[in-house]
Parts: sequence; C-alpha cells; structure tokens
Amino acid sequence: MLIVPENRIAELMTPEDAFEAVESVFAAMARDEAYNFPVIREAIGHADALYGFKGGFDRAGAALGLKAGGYWPNNHERGIINHQSTIFLFDPDTGRVAAAVGGNYLTAARTAASSAVSIKHLSRPDSKVLGMIGAGHQAAFQMRAALRQRDFEKVIGWNLHPEMLSRLADIATEAGLPFEEVDLDRLGAEADVIISITSSFAPILKAAQVSPGTHIACMGTDTKGKQEVEPELLVRAAVFTDEVAQSVSIGEAQHAIASGLIEASAITPIGKVIAGAHPGRSSAEEITLFDGTGVALQDLAVASAVVERARAAGVATEVEI
Ligand code: NAD
Repeated sequence: MLIVPENRIAELMTPEDAFEAVESVFAAMARDEAYNFPVIREAIGHADALYGFKGGFDRAGAALGLKAGGYWPNNHERGIINHQSTIFLFDPDTGRVAAAVGGNYLTAARTAASSAVSIKHLSRPDSKVLGMIGAGHQAAFQMRAALRQRDFEKVIGWNLHPEMLSRLADIATEAGLPFEEVDLDRLGAEADVIISITSSFAPILKAAQVSPGTHIACMGTDTKGKQEVEPELLVRAAVFTDEVAQSVSIGEAQHAIASGLIEASAITPIGKVIAGAHPGRSSAEEITLFDGTGVALQDLAVASAVVERARAAGVATEVEI
C-alpha cells in the first residue's frame, strides 16, 4: 500500500483539483454511479471527541474506501487542529488496502470545494458581496474557494468570537478586497452569497434576515443536533444538498424535517444540477440554500487524486501489509 503523509498533501492538491474531483463525484452520485454508506459518528465520552467513519464506493472512478476520524474540540490547546482524520482506499477488484492518505488538509479542501461547487451552480452570476459566518480553521479554506467562483467586490463577516475575524480580514487583504465586520442583520441584507461554517448547535441566521436572491451554503452542520440557520429559512429557500439521506439526518435540514416544515422530497441533490437534470436556481429573486453535509465520496475523490499525484511525484511511501 501507499502512504501519503499529511505534511505532503498541500503541495500535491490544488484547490482546482479538489473542485474538479468534488464536482465530478457529485454528478456521479446523481447518475447512481457512486454511493455513500451510512455514517457512523459517536461522541466517545473522551476528550469531548466526536469520532466516526464515512465510507462509499464510486464505481465510475473505481474509488472504494473510508475516512476515519472526527472532531477533537480541545486540540488547539495542544497546537494541532481540531479535525483529525485519515483516508483509506481499497482496491475494488481485490479488497486489498491500496493507500492511507492524511485526511486533515483534504477535509478542508473538499469541504471548501463543496460550497464552491454550490456557488458556481446556484448563486447569481452577478454576486458581489460574500458574507462569512464563522472564522475557524475551515472558514479560511471556504472563503478562498468562494472567491474563485464570482467577481466579489467585498467580504463581510460575523463570528461569535469576533477576535477570530482577523483571519478572514487577512485573506480579503491578500485578495485585494475590503473586509468589514457586520451584525447579522447587515450580513443578511447585504450579502449575495453567504457561507456558514461554525460549530453552532442553535440557529444563528434568521429567515427574515436573508435578502431575496441570496445563495447560502450551510457547511457547519454535519452532526445530529448542530444547527446554523432558522428552519423557516429552508421553507423560504430552494434547498439543495450533497446527499439527501445525510441532509435530513445530520445536515442543516434535520431541523426543518423534524418539525415538519419541509419534506425530504423537496431537497435536490446538487449532482442533478451539475449533470443537467435539474435547472438549479429558477429566478434572480429565489433564495437557494445548499446543505453541505460532507460525504465520504468527496474524501475518496480527493484522496484518489492525491495518490495519483504522489505516485507521479515519487513522494508516496510503499509498504507491504
Ligand atoms: P473551528 O473550531 O476551527 O472553528 C469553529 C467556528 O465556530 C469558529 O468560527 C467559532 O467562533 C464558531 N463557534 C464555536 N462555537 C459556536 C457556537 N456555539 N455558536 C456559534 N459559533 C460558534 O472549527 P472548524 O474546523 O472551522 O469547523 C467548523 C465546523 O464545520 C464544525 O462544526 C465542523 O464539524 C464542520 N465541518 C463540516 C464539514 C462538512 O463537510 N460539512 C467538514 C468539516 C468541518
């Protein structure tokens, strides 16, 4: 098997590669050529950690495997990031383990690619203001990936811990754009595209705060109980997701579903839009909402791309197992 260590991934994986891998696997899911297995995710009662496995099989891309790992909220005290994971790929013809790939950078890259794919396919082409809710580790990746999709002229941001917003201000400066800290009323009123990427367990953004025509990528809710927006927003919006089964159980839609505000049949897999089987946004006034829950196939797609590049660059270690 090949081992691709965490510290070599960033040099092997470009944001463009991640975008392409995620966009194409979402389309493969919509064509029923790729599917995810049920997610296992548990609070293990140690270090406040959430640990689990996400697996899947992409027949079209011949990618079989899983990501194991989760979220350790106190890791920053040890100087390491809160998300820790490793991706394992298996040979679909023999079942032999083919590769172990560091999953930390790839998780951020594939999650950023996911919201970026939603922005490309669902936001208004004339979107000018990007609104960020959240300013943690993932938010930086999210913001950089979003800025590649539209000609944004300004970034505005809100975070529960405002001192963290300097991270976003620095990225805006890097991109030559102004950045302004705003309250949630202004964020909802002014942003054309909103990304929420927090660890919140209660609604942050209210339905009435969002302007017509906005595209919202809800990216933080990937576990039962988490929540970033008021469920009524999912009634106002046309709702899209990476995978409906995850959206209704561990994604942002879990709350609107549980309270009977929407039905699962009202949620569209974004792969259908990518594959041309659904028109996506229906008007300039429609609010679109992408519930990005994070599926195993995203991890397998970016890990497979990295393994190819690592092999070509000679940076992977081959071990017998
Ligand atoms: P982080 O710990 O670096 O940052 C957490 C962010 O959430 C910060 O902005 C913080 O201020 C904010 N926050 C913390 N508690 C909050 C609360 N109670 N209310 C509102 N905001 C709060 O974490 P991160 O690595 O940036 O991850 C952020 C979230 O994204 C996590 O919930 C994580 O599980 C999720 N995530 C989702 C996917 C996916 O595919 N959908 C992938 C990776 C991470």
